Formats: sequence, C-alpha cells, structure tokens
Amino acid sequence: MAEEKNKCLFCGIVDGSVPSLKVYEGKNVVGVLSIKPATKGHVLIIPKNHQAYLHTLDPESLFEVMSAIRSVTLLLSQTFNPEGFNVINNMGPGAGQKLPHVCFEVIPRYKGDGVKVEIPQGEFKEQELMKVQEQVLTTSKTNTIKTLKAIKEGKVKASPEVKAEAEKALAQLEQAENPVKTAKKQYSTKLENILDKEE
Ligand SMILES: [Zn+2]
Repeated sequence: MAEEKNKCLFCGIVDGSVPSLKVYEGKNVVGVLSIKPATKGHVLIIPKNHQAYLHTLDPESLFEVMSAIRSVTLLLSQTFNPEGFNVINNMGPGAGQKLPHVCFEVIPRYKGDGVKVEIPQGEFKEQELMKVQEQVLTTSKTNTIKTLKAIKEGKVKASPEVKAEAEKALAQLEQAENPVKTAKKQYSTKLENILDKEE
C-alpha cells in the first residue's frame, strides 16, 4: 500500500513532493491546474485520500469533492467567463482512468475550443431498459436486506430503536412480492405521456 502510494502522482501533488499550481485547497481536497490543459483554466479536483473509485471514497471527502467542483467552477466563471463547463470523472482503466486515484477534471468551455465530449445515443429499447432496471433494483434490494440482517443480528452496532426499525423494514422487504413491478407500471404510464407530447 505504502509503495503504491509512493508511485501515485496525485498523492505526490497532495503531499507537496510533486510541484503543482494550486487554485483550491480544503481539508480533504485540492484543486490544481492541469499541466496539459484542454482549455484555459482546466483544473483537476483531487481528494487527499488515495482511493481509485467514488464508491470507495469516504463520504466526507466525497462531499468535499463536490463542494470543491462548485467553488472552482464559480471561480473560473468569474475569472474567465467561459461559455460552459465539462466536469469529467473516469472510473477504472476501461473508462480511461490513468491513475488509481479519484480525479474530477473541470474544463471551462469557450467558443471554438475544439474540445469534443461525445456520448453516443443508442437505440431506445423499452424491454431491455426494463430488464436493466430490474437487475439494478434486485442488486439494491439484496444489499439492503444484507445490511438490515446485519443490524438485526447485531453485527452492526445500532440502538434498540434502530434495530427495531431494521427488523420491521426487513420483514416488509422480504414479504414484498416485487418492488420492481410498481416502478415499471409508473414508468410505462409516464413514458406514454412523454411520447404523446413529442408527437
Ligand atoms: Zn494517490
């Protein structure tokens, strides 16, 4: 772990062993100018905690990262008056993440800056989308049941009130026939309305 940390460029920026041009510093986050800026004012927002992913970062740092993005975009707006911003985070090597340390790129956008952020628009397939929703909600349900069971069994410390609440919620969740069904019905009705309006 220590060795990995020594190799991380962002950890070096955080501890000052790698020189950087800081424009923001908070308790858990720094904001530095990109040394290869896509546009004028391109800033990297880096949490001090060495974590590769948003879902492994501690909540306090995560909150501060979002807060830093807000402050930095405001600062850059006031300083350079760009036409907009792209805020980009790559998670995992498959998504283009180069270092296993969370980073948000704040890129101010100007007319004719040549920056391209393109997300392809796939085909609309309702049944497939519903299947995806079901899969995600099933994972969510499984996770929730696991957490509630841990509370019920005393593996997670909780007050008697919380424990009672957890037991109640667990019973409801285990009895619930299919929480996905209701969501699906609501979605279909709403979607019909949207499609009607679009015609
Ligand atoms: Zn690091």
